[in-house]
Amino acid sequence: MFAERITSIHVAYYHLCHRKLWLFHHQIRMENASGNVHVAEGKLIEDSSYTRRAQRWRQLLVGNLRIDHFDPVARVVREVKKSPKLEHAHVAQLKYYLFVLARAGVKDLRGELEYPRQRRRVEVRLTAEDGPAIEDWERDIERIVASPVCPALRKKAYCKACAFYDFCYV
Ligand code: SF4
Repeated sequence: MFAERITSIHVAYYHLCHRKLWLFHHQIRMENASGNVHVAEGKLIEDSSYTRRAQRWRQLLVGNLRIDHFDPVARVVREVKKSPKLEHAHVAQLKYYLFVLARAGVKDLRGELEYPRQRRRVEVRLTAEDGPAIEDWERDIERIVASPVCPALRKKAYCKACAFYDFCYV
């Protein structure tokens, strides 16, 4: 079943750029190849922030998903990000965690999206409408990555911060 091969990165890239999604799925990587440190920097924040609260959080592996912050007592799934600039993709990623967990029988969870630098926290809930919409995402992701050709370039405000900038524009 293809859905079991979908990672949180597929979901985030699906909401950012279908070309980037296709490149990622086909294991074409350019992180830091052009001195772009955004990805690495974001990862650093995820790893180093809130270490004082590490005891509270457990890591969960569900199929192809690795969920770094799960609080089984408060029933919270947390995602920590560097900047809210791409918040819609972060919300989608967190909703996907909640959806996959609910599909596996782990229900009644809520999500917390945290931006430590901005001291911002966003609560994310899975609604009744989200289920069918997320199943559509899964089908659409499968369709995009199954294509033998990379989707055409469609310029976005995000492109200059993308690790594939050189690949797409130079
Ligand atoms: S540079 Fe722009 S078009 Fe190219 S993969 Fe990145 S976001 Fe997509």
